[in-house]
Amino acid sequence: MDIIEKLLDIPNTAIESIEVTEESDVVITVRSTIDGTRCHKCGRKINKLHGHGEAITLRHLSILGRKTYIRIRPARYRCTHCEGKPTTTQKLHWYKERSSCTIAYEEHILLQLVNSTVSDVSMKEDIGYETVMGAIQCHIEDAVNWDEIERLNVIGLDEIALKKGHKDFVVIVTARDCDKITILAVLNDRKKSTVKAFLSSIPERLKKTVTTVCSDMYDGYINAAKEVFGEDVVVVIDRFHVAKLYRGGLDNLRKKEIARLGAELAEEEYKKLKGVMWLLRKNAKDLVDEELEVLERLFKYSPMLEIAYKLHNDLTDIFDSDISKSEAQVKIDDWIDKAIKSGLTCFNNFLSTLDTRMCEIVNYFISRQTSGFVEGLNNKIKVTKRRCYGIFNVKHLFQRIHLDIEGYSLFT
Ligand SMILES: [Zn+2]
Repeated sequence: MDIIEKLLDIPNTAIESIEVTEESDVVITVRSTIDGTRCHKCGRKINKLHGHGEAITLRHLSILGRKTYIRIRPARYRCTHCEGKPTTTQKLHWYKERSSCTIAYEEHILLQLVNSTVSDVSMKEDIGYETVMGAIQCHIEDAVNWDEIERLNVIGLDEIALKKGHKDFVVIVTARDCDKITILAVLNDRKKSTVKAFLSSIPERLKKTVTTVCSDMYDGYINAAKEVFGEDVVVVIDRFHVAKLYRGGLDNLRKKEIARLGAELAEEEYKKLKGVMWLLRKNAKDLVDEELEVLERLFKYSPMLEIAYKLHNDLTDIFDSDISKSEAQVKIDDWIDKAIKSGLTCFNNFLSTLDTRMCEIVNYFISRQTSGFVEGLNNKIKVTKRRCYGIFNVKHLFQRIHLDIEGYSLFT
């Protein structure tokens, strides 16, 4: 028993019996070794025992792969000071009232939930969906606790569509300091007023530690950031967002040209162009000979696409170079000239963005280290969102992203 008690690691209890049920579950009956409780009315310490409450059975960490339950009948005490001599049931720290499991087990569930789904965990553990949701509600904060944050440094604003193809975006606000990512908020919409209200709510002490705001091109974010943190804050549009935009230009032209070639070329010849979308998106340096041949064939039929492809790659090369902000500015200006002279229209959208957001775009070259972070986080959040399928509320999303980011350090 002593060893089991030690392994069980439930404070202030003694084991009364251990049984294995017909279903091979382990049920450990314990009693509290603490005497007395505090009266729920007057708060006095009371220890006049008044029987026991109904037995409660709580799921606990498995023993040798068997489902394990702790059973206890909580002691009741009567207060002799209060009128009517009310009774109070003793509460113990290792489980929460009305929960169907011990806290240790709830923490185990939450660790299982890191990078997983509620229904997956509920199936593997053979517990109800609601039990998993209850553990999240009970243990994972649904808003940032500013007291736990020392400094913010880089703030990231990223938006995701909650439902595929939907226009209702939520905004994920994160902070990054020395590779540590903290989720600060999930905002209900991407309106400037919403973003500004949140940024304004950051405690003054922490506002002063913000050096950089990293966002996409949306004016609402950029203006909100400048209004809250002052004109001097460095706003960076990460290359990840920039690349998405100029890649979009190439994609549009590719779609048009492929449609044209589909109509003009013989079927056999057209078939040889299969998979060009992936080839055009692939890093040019990673293309193997066969793939280069396909592209050559494509460019023979569409010289325009070749020019656009080269312009696209030139930009990627610029963003790959370890150059200063002013050098980048010069190179991008040259690129703009080339793009305009090419006569192509597919980059027009991107060119007008460069026109208005050049400063924020070349700010990327000041420290050139945000990209992996932004892209990695973006992918992580997208995956989290997919795993939260069906649970579209910002509080839950906050809890899940928080759990995915912090889970291992919280529960291991
Ligand atoms: Zn009392």
